[in-house]
Amino acid sequence: MTDDIDPTKEIEGRDIDTGGRQLNRRRFLELTGVSAGSLALGTGSATAEYQEVTDVGGFSCEHPQFNCGQEVSAAGGMVSTVDPIAAGVAARVLREGGTAFDAAVALQYTLNVTQPHGSGIGGGGFTVVHEAASGTTEVIDSRERASQDATPDLYLHEGEYNQNIQTGEAMGTPGTAMALETLREEYGTMSRQRLINPAIKLARNGFTVDWFLAEQIHGNTHKLNDAALETYSDDAGNLYEAGDTMTNPDLADTFEIIKREGPDGFYEGPVAADLAATISEYARDPDQVVDEEDLANYDVKINEPVRKEWYDVELVGQPMPSSGPTVIEMMLRMLEFLNIGDYDVRSTEKYHLFAESMYSCWADRMAYMGDDEFVDVPVDELLSDAYLQARADQIEFGTTVFPENSSTMYPGDPWNASAKPPDFNPSEKLFDSAAAIGNTTHFTTVDRWGNAVSWTSTIERFMGSGKMVPGRGFMINNELTDFDAEPGGPNQPNGWKRPLSSTSPMMVLRDGKPEFTAGSPGGWSIPDATLQAILHRYVYDQSPLESITEPRLYTHHYGGITWSEGVPDGARDTLESWGHSLNDGPSPVGNVQVIAIDDDELTGAADPNRDGQAVGYTGGGRNRGQGRDRGRGHGN
Ligand code: GLU
Repeated sequence: MTDDIDPTKEIEGRDIDTGGRQLNRRRFLELTGVSAGSLALGTGSATAEYQEVTDVGGFSCEHPQFNCGQEVSAAGGMVSTVDPIAAGVAARVLREGGTAFDAAVALQYTLNVTQPHGSGIGGGGFTVVHEAASGTTEVIDSRERASQDATPDLYLHEGEYNQNIQTGEAMGTPGTAMALETLREEYGTMSRQRLINPAIKLARNGFTVDWFLAEQIHGNTHKLNDAALETYSDDAGNLYEAGDTMTNPDLADTFEIIKREGPDGFYEGPVAADLAATISEYARDPDQVVDEEDLANYDVKINEPVRKEWYDVELVGQPMPSSGPTVIEMMLRMLEFLNIGDYDVRSTEKYHLFAESMYSCWADRMAYMGDDEFVDVPVDELLSDAYLQARADQIEFGTTVFPENSSTMYPGDPWNASAKPPDFNPSEKLFDSAAAIGNTTHFTTVDRWGNAVSWTSTIERFMGSGKMVPGRGFMINNELTDFDAEPGGPNQPNGWKRPLSSTSPMMVLRDGKPEFTAGSPGGWSIPDATLQAILHRYVYDQSPLESITEPRLYTHHYGGITWSEGVPDGARDTLESWGHSLNDGPSPVGNVQVIAIDDDELTGAADPNRDGQAVGYTGGGRNRGQGRDRGRGHGN
């Protein structure tokens, strides 16, 4: 273990300071001289604004073929992401005739450069992929795995557990490089070179640091290793500020290796050796952490999504080892049974039904969910109408299902809905309400042929473990802290196991075709943020932007409600009087990106609680349902 690890600094280390965001954003705009326009063609949205992107050659929001903004519509293709630069790169791919799959690959490579605190090849994620030509929806699971040699006591240390995010024990086998090339090879039409080159160029020649990256650099210095500090500093040794031009030549070199060799260039050979050496350097017990053999054995999984009918549509998302989509599907079905649409979108009743359902579903998540390669998760039972109706029937107005004199909600018994709940001892996985706005990133792409991608990508905390592989330019995740620290539950660590996630890349299908995509960062708040966007869109008939700006709540099996700006005072007072406990002040919940798809038009919206941007490509024309050949075997 190296000196810069403070074992007393728990996983809850408050990495994030989101205070003063608006001020910083204004300052960023002043510093860079970029224009925050109010022109968003074809949206009709009064609040839409865009941020001009000057870093991407051949792309401009002023160009008549692109619509940029917080909400925009276009017929030829759509991208929505937290990062305007990555949005520009992906929109160019769409203009060149690339598919949603191609655009998503270029976008993720770029995010690794421009938003390295949120995702990258040192991390993992989940990708929901709908292919119009075949009408299939699949998910690519690039979740990190524990070493094949890990044991349930991975975190037990001198008789105590400590999920320090900076240890080698926290670092899982990254999956994103494999996900990128799997998506491109299995679904994409463009060459690796075409899709990785924009990221290489930005890393080599530089890009404008935005206020959020600057905040993450400055707010995380306590955990950054020398390689990271050097990469995040200018030639004079000063940490980058908003508006500076940052380069990352080491990452450009790593991408060149991947460009030449494909995923093998990452999972085997010198990059893998350096990654394994860095993980080992920070390990307490080098025998339990990811090594070169683990990296060489890593592969993504392509799975069927978890599905649930809901009103007249179908909800689909990543199955285990992410709990998020299953929880969302349980919750939304319960809310349907509770006739949530009878109550106003800002009524006490709506907020109450939401919180009550989430207490129950999250308790079930903690009791039953884990990596289904290791644990028999009763997904069918949890998603059965009989069970969800029984759980919904327990909810009443004027009182809460949250048990008195207990710090946690009890799970149900999915095998016997009317039975007494089983004993419940959730492990003390700590949670961090400060994480509610982010860590992680969600982006989504749709093309004119009807192909769609919904991808949540993460290195866990902002800046992950804080450790960059020296000479390679990418951060290593701390995803394994998503395991329970204490052995015994379904989410205990095991060799080659994937930790339970909350990430929730979702699609809503009508007659088998995507009609809405949604997802968010934010740790445990991800399912709440994502499902409220779907609820607001479908039950309250809101526009895509309204569906993600409508005030939202966040809660879990420990109770306590985080609420975002705009929840009325009266509703909060009544919720308290019904037995809920609410935070004193508002805080953002998640950072949601969505795309709505209809026969004539695509409408994208990016959450204004950061500087996300939706970019539509107006050319090409809609060609939905005709599909497009995958163009497999495009080589390098
Ligand atoms: N590691 C988290 C998960 O997979 C995501 C991190 C975050 O968004 O805070 O659930």
